[in-house]
Amino acid sequence: MLKTISCGDVRAEHIGKTVTLAGWVNRRRDHGSLIFIDLRDREGLVQVVFNPENAPEAHGIAEQLRSEWVVQVIGEVTKRPEGSENPNLPTGQIEVAINQITVLNESKTPPFYINEESEVDEFIRLKYRYMDLRRPAMRDMIIMRHKVVKFIRDFLDERGFLEIETPILIKSTPEGARDYLVPSRLYPGRFYALPQSPQQLKQLLMAAGVERYFQIARCFRDEDPRADRQPEHTQLDLEMSFVEEDDVLNLIEELYTKLIEALFPEKWLVKPFPRLTYEESMALYGTDKPDMRFDLDMADLSDVGTQTEFRVFTSVVESGGIVKGFNAPGCATYSRRQTDELIDFVKARGAQGLVTISLTGEGDLDDLTEEQIRSGASRFLTVEQVKEMARRVEAQPGDMMLIVAGPAKSTNLALSLLRHEMGQRLGLADPNQVALAFVTDFPLFEYNDDDGTWDAMHHAFSMPKEGHEQFLETDPGRVLGKLYDLVANGSELASGSIRIHKRELQERVFKVLGYSKEQVAERFDQLLTAFEYGTPPHGGIAPGIDRLLMVLMGKDNIRDVIAFPKTQSGFDPLFEAPNVVEQSQLEDLHIQITANEEERQLDPALTEGNALAE
Ligand code: ASP
Repeated sequence: MLKTISCGDVRAEHIGKTVTLAGWVNRRRDHGSLIFIDLRDREGLVQVVFNPENAPEAHGIAEQLRSEWVVQVIGEVTKRPEGSENPNLPTGQIEVAINQITVLNESKTPPFYINEESEVDEFIRLKYRYMDLRRPAMRDMIIMRHKVVKFIRDFLDERGFLEIETPILIKSTPEGARDYLVPSRLYPGRFYALPQSPQQLKQLLMAAGVERYFQIARCFRDEDPRADRQPEHTQLDLEMSFVEEDDVLNLIEELYTKLIEALFPEKWLVKPFPRLTYEESMALYGTDKPDMRFDLDMADLSDVGTQTEFRVFTSVVESGGIVKGFNAPGCATYSRRQTDELIDFVKARGAQGLVTISLTGEGDLDDLTEEQIRSGASRFLTVEQVKEMARRVEAQPGDMMLIVAGPAKSTNLALSLLRHEMGQRLGLADPNQVALAFVTDFPLFEYNDDDGTWDAMHHAFSMPKEGHEQFLETDPGRVLGKLYDLVANGSELASGSIRIHKRELQERVFKVLGYSKEQVAERFDQLLTAFEYGTPPHGGIAPGIDRLLMVLMGKDNIRDVIAFPKTQSGFDPLFEAPNVVEQSQLEDLHIQITANEEERQLDPALTEGNALAE
């Protein structure tokens, strides 16, 4: 080794010892004749001192050192002079008096400060990712990611799980996204697909008698750019045989509880994790990914709405829509400008509008008077109707009710985003809380208005709940599945289900999804055949590792928890991928490019560095 101890590990107990250190020049300070260097390695910083009287040659070299040069130094650990200790640094009691230095490599001036947490254009950070990762916050992320994954591995190992790798070159494994394809040289005109997840493979491992499988799996999905998506993401992929829903949920609850308690002691969570059905979640929060750090529960006001003289409410309900709202506590004093902002907010998110009803003044709701009601709709509402709505959303004088009317889907969506917004504005979410909850009993299918077809809510392999199979052909929308999600603070952290393990039932589900016999044979033959050879009942789940780190490390940007991510538009600025390839490579693959020159140019924005704007 070129060092005897890490820079960040030197302590007072080493005083008097000679150490060899190696690392990067974090900062150099010339104090008259003495030169101080903060030397940095992965473990941290230590101050080293060059004194021209004791070591003139080393001092001469130190004069030339610049930021990010890599050096090896040998010297004696000494106590820092009285008054110059740095209590903010673990090595702050000592310094190292250097007698010898070797420059291991020089560095050009870095494109951004490594030694300061300054704002840097993200494209530049990604282009020089190896330098970005030297910065303490990124180093901490890399270390934490390692610890999280190690914790998961150890936890599952102790519980009899086997870690098994599954192929990356495989056939289409649909999870609702587009596949990444890899052309085959040996089989002209044929393609592998990169797995969208190892879903079918883990089910086949259950058929293989593995019983408890996991993998830290890479999943590839060619999706349109979205803020918190990457073309490849990492999942803890997990599957178990002979289990019921509760077995999977209990395991995950224990894993997450122990992991957070061990690695994120500053975070807190509510145990046991609340479990709510999809229906409950939609009713209370308008979404299946609720942020449960705060209440702001919603209530359906459709029946009260129809009794009013307010056309907006009555016509919506007549045409099958809903009137729904929630209470914003203490917001009765919102100004016109503030309520207008909220109206614009929901309109930008697909709602027709927002009705705000402020209950001004104080006192008991039962004593509410007409004068206390402030709303654009007040002349269409009786005091009794307003009181009833207030009771439903638990509003009191001093509060403001926020109400949206419209088709259920868009109303829920807009309201759920508004609820999130109000939670932020009112500072209701404790950043240290991880509000984990399970959402269960999802519908198996979701109607696709555009195509007039039924899509799988999650994927095609989930088992219908007991007693729901009978509606598969007659009323698919009514079929609930043994399907569950783990959510935290408004994000979905994991999805899973108990699977179908019999051919006949699986074929019926494929039929609802509109797959032809040929498509089924082409995509799922291996799984259906396995079901005919003694596949046991099984189920599993797949928590996203990137998302988990984002929530636990408080990052808004998925790229900040991945060592080498791509930009939001799927570009890798470091390797400049995707890229063109040699004509001969294309010929080997029997591929002809039909895109013209212009189409083949990368979006210039990508290389200019503003592609990351979200
Ligand atoms: N394969 C699923 C997914 O990637 C997870 C699961 O059902 O286990 O979302």
